[in-house]
Amino acid sequence: MRLSRYFLPVLKETPSEAQIVSHRLMLRAGMIKQSAAGIYSWLPLGYRVLKRIEQIVHEEQQRAGHIPMLMPTLQSADLWRESGRYDAYGPEMLRFTDRQDREMLYGPTNEELITDIVRSNVASYKDLPLTLYHIQWKFRDEMRPRFGVMRGREFLMKDGYNFDLTRADAMHAYNRHLVSYLRTYERMGLQAIPMRADSGPIGGDDTHEFLVLADTGESEVFYDSNVTEISLGQRDIDYDDVGQCASVMEEFTTLYARTDETHDEAEFTKVPEDRRRSARGIEVGQIFYFGTKYSDALGARVQGPDGKPTALHMGSHGIGVSRLVGAIIEASHDDKGIIWPEGVTPFHVGIVNLKQNDASTDSACEGIYKELAAQGLTALYDDRKDRAGAKFAIMDLIGLPWRITVGPRGLANGLVELTSRRTGETEEVTPQAAIARLK
Ligand code: ATP
Ligand code: MG
Ligand code: MG
Ligand code: MG
Repeated sequence: MRLSRYFLPVLKETPSEAQIVSHRLMLRAGMIKQSAAGIYSWLPLGYRVLKRIEQIVHEEQQRAGHIPMLMPTLQSADLWRESGRYDAYGPEMLRFTDRQDREMLYGPTNEELITDIVRSNVASYKDLPLTLYHIQWKFRDEMRPRFGVMRGREFLMKDGYNFDLTRADAMHAYNRHLVSYLRTYERMGLQAIPMRADSGPIGGDDTHEFLVLADTGESEVFYDSNVTEISLGQRDIDYDDVGQCASVMEEFTTLYARTDETHDEAEFTKVPEDRRRSARGIEVGQIFYFGTKYSDALGARVQGPDGKPTALHMGSHGIGVSRLVGAIIEASHDDKGIIWPEGVTPFHVGIVNLKQNDASTDSACEGIYKELAAQGLTALYDDRKDRAGAKFAIMDLIGLPWRITVGPRGLANGLVELTSRRTGETEEVTPQAAIARLK
């Protein structure tokens, strides 16, 4: 992408309405624009990041054997009456009527809709196990939408639902989700710690939230500092291996780590004092096992191996896709701007031409730009006529992990500069070497 032809409406001033750094940086970097309280347009740069996060979520869900689909944002109230949640959900649910006076709602979550699909189409235990998911916009009329996309009213969520014959099978699905979520967050350069949590209006007993530690997080958390030492890394996971998934689950959930809702002071004091931590965290996902709660209410049964109808064991599992954009920035920025982890960056590299309209720098930049594209790397080429300082400031603000700087002095010796956004280190290398480093 050439910056001269792109739409990157960066702001000079720090917007006063933004209270936390990720919100300020997203506005300044021209990633989003508020259209109403808690409702945002995703401008081109923000949209690219959102799509990359979505892509990682899709890849990791499908790696775990979960099946993508798409349900609508608008739902009929009828199903929610059947489950008993229409009244229970309260004012967070946006309700309206259509021209026929039918009661409708903008889905805050999809347990009812998916259970209806499954009860109508799955009749035998032989069709199980089944895990379906989608990535779709949700609406919750939050009392206090704030912090930009972190607590929006309209937000993008991945929600997945497992349907199993037995509790044991459903617990395997639970563990599979836990492992796939760990991988998902790690690929985004994030540490998200699974913590014992409370199930809230979804209902159920077994649930973990995934929290990214950050001072601006809205959750209060308590944990053994040793949990921050574990990571999944590059291990090979066989998602069909019940024992392997269970042991990863145990490894990540045995040390004390809880949100304030389930925090237990007496248990916590068993953690050696020098490892006890209390902090703030951002909830970026949650997994639930809730047994037959919805399948009982909605009559979702299959014929079991003994020929008798049996209620499905279910769980639901969510990732806050749009919230993650903010959470990643909270975890990765400095005073100049965002620092994107490679896994989610909107462009792999920025190219800065220090002397636009100079035949040699122009042609070197064009060559690099084309070669990067040929190698499958995306570049944002600042081909505008502007001061070097202003160009650097934009690149630092939007946080691309690498910058290639092309100026007449270096080019005289066949060299360009390759700068890491994270470390600030610059090397003088040939254009070929710079491209090779990025691959
Ligand atoms: P919170 O405690 O922050 O209100 P929640 O527990 O109500 O979140 P879930 O029902 O668990 O949310 O939804 C799954 C995920 O969707 C959450 O873990 C979070 O990352 C994301 N999410 C929930 N509400 C919002 C929101 N208002 N704006 C952006 N993301 C959200
Ligand atoms: Mg909530
Ligand atoms: Mg919550
Ligand atoms: Mg939650």
